[in-house]
Amino acid sequence: PHLVNQIAAGEVVERPASVVKELLENSLDAGAGRIRIDVDEGGIRRMRISDDGCGIAAEQLALALDPHATSKIASLSDLEAVATLGFRGEALASIASVARLTLASRTPEAAEGSEVRAENGQLSSRQPRGMPPGTIVDVEDLFFNTPARRKFVRTERTEFGHIDDLVRRLALARPATAFELVHNGRAVRRLVAATDERSRQRRVGDVCGQAFVDQALYLENRHEGLALEGYIARPSFSRSQADLQFFFVNGRLVRDRLIAHAVRQAYQDVLFHGRHPAFVLHLTIDPARVDVNVHPQKTEVRFRDSRQVHGFLFSTLHRALAETRP
Ligand code: ADP
Ligand code: MG
Repeated sequence: PHLVNQIAAGEVVERPASVVKELLENSLDAGAGRIRIDVDEGGIRRMRISDDGCGIAAEQLALALDPHATSKIASLSDLEAVATLGFRGEALASIASVARLTLASRTPEAAEGSEVRAENGQLSSRQPRGMPPGTIVDVEDLFFNTPARRKFVRTERTEFGHIDDLVRRLALARPATAFELVHNGRAVRRLVAATDERSRQRRVGDVCGQAFVDQALYLENRHEGLALEGYIARPSFSRSQADLQFFFVNGRLVRDRLIAHAVRQAYQDVLFHGRHPAFVLHLTIDPARVDVNVHPQKTEVRFRDSRQVHGFLFSTLHRALAETRP
């Protein structure tokens, strides 16, 4: 089973940020209200994700590291309506096959936590561990046993940059969750939980810069089961914006041609150009009307009715932008 895992890991674990992504998605799926990401040396040396989510019962702890164990799908038909971020059940096992991993957890009902440690395909016996309710995952020495993969890891700075990008986009996707990012013992980001429109705006400012929020248009629209909400740059906003394009579908960051096209068209139609608009937009749609299972990295979507989605995006953005015309 160890070999199979290492092959599967190729799809999931590419660099420290891919580990952090899987662990953060698990924390979010566990309903965490507060997540701390603490990494050393760009995550290459050590990554620790702690959350205050639902935790894992002691007797399930070892199972969570099993290649195909997931608590998120009860039957195959559930796949159609998956709303959680991870659902393949292979992330923890894959990470454990390319690093030293410690999984510690405590459910709110449990009197104490417990932990298991995985190294070289070997699982330690379960040990008690004093900890608050939630889950702590420690990943050390990524790729220590796969030197070929280790070669593709870049500098500490580059790898940390990928982790920070990831935290930024998840922080935008989940404003109600507090995030703290620590690098080499230094707090890099501290994002408090946002509960109302005002604090959600603050979250966007913390992540995208206050300059973006200060000039942005806020929009909100619903139509036939589709809801769009968020901020788009006014035509006058002119800084380089390649890094300010965030589109979320049901809380998942998506890069999709259909969406990009609808946004570009709307800007073009109103302003006669569609150069790199900046936006932070959230689309909510019935999960049964969208396929998210098209790519291992899960960043692409396929809408059942793509024309309807395109039309809704275009008309919503178009109306908002047209109002800015003198
Ligand atoms: P998946 O997320 O696809 O189910 P993973 O390998 O990422 O698979 O996780 C396996 C299982 O471990 C999850 O289904 C979940 O039950 C449990 N788990 C992992 N991380 C956490 C966490 N932070 N809090 C609670 N449960 C967790
Ligand atoms: Mg997962």
